[in-house]
Amino acid sequence: MRTEQEYIDSLRELKTVVYASGEKLDNFVDHPLIRPHINAAAMTYKLSHDPEFEDLLTTKSHLTGKKINRFTHIHQNPNDLIKKVKMLRAISQQTGSCYQRCVGFDGINALYSTTYDIDQKYGTVYHQRIKEYVKHLQETDNMVVGAMTDPKGDRGVSPSGQEDPDMFVRIVEKNDQGIIIRGAKVHQTGAVNSHEILIMPTTALKEEDSEYAVACALPVDAPGVIHIFGRQINDTRKFDEIDQGNACFGVVGGEALIILKDVFIPWEKVFMSGEYDFAGNLVERFACYHRQNYGGCKGGISDVIIGATSAIARMNGVEKASHVRDKVVEMIHLAETVYCCSIACSSQGQPTACGSYMVDPLLANVGKLNITRFIYEISRLSHDIAGGLLATMPSEKDLKHPEIGPIMEQYIKGVSGVPAEERYRILRLLENMTGGTALVESMHGAGSPQAQRVMILRQGNLAHKEGLARKLAGIDQEDH
Ligand code: SF4
Repeated sequence: MRTEQEYIDSLRELKTVVYASGEKLDNFVDHPLIRPHINAAAMTYKLSHDPEFEDLLTTKSHLTGKKINRFTHIHQNPNDLIKKVKMLRAISQQTGSCYQRCVGFDGINALYSTTYDIDQKYGTVYHQRIKEYVKHLQETDNMVVGAMTDPKGDRGVSPSGQEDPDMFVRIVEKNDQGIIIRGAKVHQTGAVNSHEILIMPTTALKEEDSEYAVACALPVDAPGVIHIFGRQINDTRKFDEIDQGNACFGVVGGEALIILKDVFIPWEKVFMSGEYDFAGNLVERFACYHRQNYGGCKGGISDVIIGATSAIARMNGVEKASHVRDKVVEMIHLAETVYCCSIACSSQGQPTACGSYMVDPLLANVGKLNITRFIYEISRLSHDIAGGLLATMPSEKDLKHPEIGPIMEQYIKGVSGVPAEERYRILRLLENMTGGTALVESMHGAGSPQAQRVMILRQGNLAHKEGLARKLAGIDQEDH
């Protein structure tokens, strides 16, 4: 298993093409816009060597019997699924930010069972290939960006009906050696600082879309791959220190637009090539695994927000006010509720046909839908308690200014005994964790709310519920 430093050093060896703010970066690893996200991902390596977190961050490979980082594991039982959620909460508590590695983790698990199903129907060899790929990941401890979301163009039109055929990633050529793909993947979490990309289709497909039914793996620095790093609200703060709020780990995942300009993929790294009838299954499995995560990842994020809110209440001298205590209780209640959903969908996990384990899809989607509301409510309550200074504080440069700094300190201070800078730092952390980019990520990460509603309706078994009502109403008779 790689160490934190080995992970960071390994990124320097790659020839990843990265553009950010109109510049091609020679050294993306130390770039202020990107480095906090690398630090966050590095925690998935660091904690795997920490005895306190070892049980969550590591496990035994079912393929080789060797000790591996859990982010490269295929779930073998409900306990693996539960440990995943606990692991995510534990890492979020350390970073207060997204560490990105779950996307590839979910991608390999979704492909592991789907490739088996494809092989059963078509006699293909994808499952053996994904097994070899998983072994390779476990051996190298590489970080993988799970690349699903396509630009989509006109949302009312299928991939093959688009004016521009490259609005969804597609196979433009198949030959003896492999396939050539073209297109793009948008807002890809952790793309720039991963080692590999795992391409998956973004939606269910029909026969006429079969060239878009492609799943494959490639290095991030393969010829033809370009990364364009995304902007975030307040991202010029990354050139400051305290004003960032979370200077070491940043906010959310450091998303990028990945361009694929006729990229060659050898057959051994191809896991779907035209089996359009399995694209929907793959997308659903991936989505369920990723929605499972949110009660863990955002549960941990909420723990930090609640802690910061409690701290600022104390610094403001209002921590004992009954309305403040009630609001903090409400925040804890909401955080534990989202965590419950993730634990529940994991404990109700079921084996797939190939023996790996899948979460309960209904509970996973309910959990993610809760996140799209509850994180906003948790953030709203934190703003309520923290007060307006959260949004109006002058710059850290003013705080450190030789003339106005002492005046700032006088008026930024709360209760006596707490240095002004501590209050300033806590407010900046809260601002970072409860502001624009973080909230939008909770809304749309792992799929937008409507995607969860569609799955909840499909999984909710309304016919069964209607039957229960009809029986009790005396419409349908039952033998007793
Ligand atoms: Fe993992 Fe997604 Fe949470 Fe980031 S947002 S830590 S990738 S579950």
